[in-house]
Amino acid sequence: MSDVLKLAELLFPDVTLLPEDMEKRYPERQLKEGARVTRLAPSPTGFLHFGNLFTGTVAYRTAKVTDGIFFVRVEDTDQKRKVEGAVEVMLGGLEAFGVVADEGVVGEDIEKGDYGPYYQSQRKEIYHVFAKSLVKQDLAYPCFCSAEELDEIRAAQENESVKGYWGEYAKCRKLTLEEIEENLKAGRPWTLRLKSPGDLEKKCFFDDMIKGKIEMPENVQDVVLLKSDGIPTYHFAHAVDDHLMRTTHVVRGDEWISSCPIHLQLFRVLGFKAPKFAHVAPIMKEEDGNKRKLSKRKDPEAAVTYYIEKGYPKESVNEYILTLANSNFEDWRKANPRESQDAFPFNLKKMSISGALFDMVKFNDVSKNVISLMNAKQVYDYTCQWAEQYDKDFYALISRDEEYSVNILNIDRDTPKPRKDIAAFSEIKDYVSYFFDEIYEKNYEMPENITNDMAKEILEAYLKEYNPADDKQQWFDRIKALCEPLGYTPNVKEYKKNPDAFKGHVGDVSTVIRLAVTGRKNTPDLYAIMSLLGEDKIKERLSDAISNM
Ligand code: GLU
Repeated sequence: MSDVLKLAELLFPDVTLLPEDMEKRYPERQLKEGARVTRLAPSPTGFLHFGNLFTGTVAYRTAKVTDGIFFVRVEDTDQKRKVEGAVEVMLGGLEAFGVVADEGVVGEDIEKGDYGPYYQSQRKEIYHVFAKSLVKQDLAYPCFCSAEELDEIRAAQENESVKGYWGEYAKCRKLTLEEIEENLKAGRPWTLRLKSPGDLEKKCFFDDMIKGKIEMPENVQDVVLLKSDGIPTYHFAHAVDDHLMRTTHVVRGDEWISSCPIHLQLFRVLGFKAPKFAHVAPIMKEEDGNKRKLSKRKDPEAAVTYYIEKGYPKESVNEYILTLANSNFEDWRKANPRESQDAFPFNLKKMSISGALFDMVKFNDVSKNVISLMNAKQVYDYTCQWAEQYDKDFYALISRDEEYSVNILNIDRDTPKPRKDIAAFSEIKDYVSYFFDEIYEKNYEMPENITNDMAKEILEAYLKEYNPADDKQQWFDRIKALCEPLGYTPNVKEYKKNPDAFKGHVGDVSTVIRLAVTGRKNTPDLYAIMSLLGEDKIKERLSDAISNM
């Protein structure tokens, strides 16, 4: 037996399976031509960053537009960072925005699919099969260097342009089988390192789906493949997993670009075809004229839970993600205002190379537009869903009489130009508050040109005239008819021409009525509001205003 075969047995005595066995266990997927297999590979930190949702959506859409597969793999090799319940939290966040895996980890400790286990911590046996195979081919070796020795190497490299465990510095490369045996016998901990076949003079090339052609020096580092506890590093696990899980497109954060020479080399030495890469730039935020990454520490909107708690519908978040992700999405949306997002031909090539900018104002506008296109029942259902969890008192009010609530939400909605004033369901309580005595807040603060006495005079006259049987035209005519006897003009243009001739115009008269009935200067269609409130409530509010002003 050659030395490397002996070494392989020495290091991995229990590993009997071969890479071929793994290839058989995880065969090529039988998918239609062009179908892409993508994945999201979160570390279970328990915090779902908007960037994770963004990258997850990009991966998900990439699979969906090609009738491919999107799966979730949990990268839990760093046991120190493990957080109880974290997977549930992260999957819940993804699912809330429609990023649902076809395969992989679909719940805390629940997996689906033939390419598992999808928790890396349960794949040790698989990694070791490939680790052993690399040792047999003299492409990997054990390293016994202690932390102090590695520090010494680093110190000696101060003037080297390439630092790290490589070339002459990779001293464990040169250990003989006997020396290794001695170390093992002495129980010294070891890591498994790649024997990098890289050449400093050579370049590696790849064509990133987002960033385009990339050229970097080949990897020469003898990177660690297995840590001293036998757990793989990200690099090694990535190559083995994405190969065996038959990922066709690795969509991930662009912080991994610099590691691509390592990854491409690993795919090569392992005899795997490298997947295509799509490196997504981080979401940015503008602050004082400077751009920085959207930050978990500084920006509440960096947490996916923020959108859930505020009651932004998933359609809005998705719409904004698509706006940020694909440069042609907004034009597509203009041409197809009511088309489902799923009909959009999502394309990795339309992603921006540098980080897209998160703009809260824009996001809210997008959301207002999305909600304006929903029907009242949808808005009602969503609002109930949100309120049931986050505002129980309001839930009790809004669900008390569904028909009444739906009618409220339908005001100015079912029209060619619906109002765009609600961005999140948490805003609805305030938006509809004057329809519910329990939360209605009186406000008789009149416009500057109207004194309380003037307002009272208008309201007294109106209360006499008010007729709940009016249709909209009659209702408005009645308000107009009040104007002249009280010294106002029904004609706004006339008022503008000759403001000194009048106390005000019909707009002022309506505002006084609106304030008395709703406590607001601006509302949707006042006629519709008054019809819904009904005769008794209108009379009560008008009288109330008259006596309390
Ligand atoms: N666990 C890695 C991370 O969270 C995944 C990177 C990848 O998608 O390959 O950054």
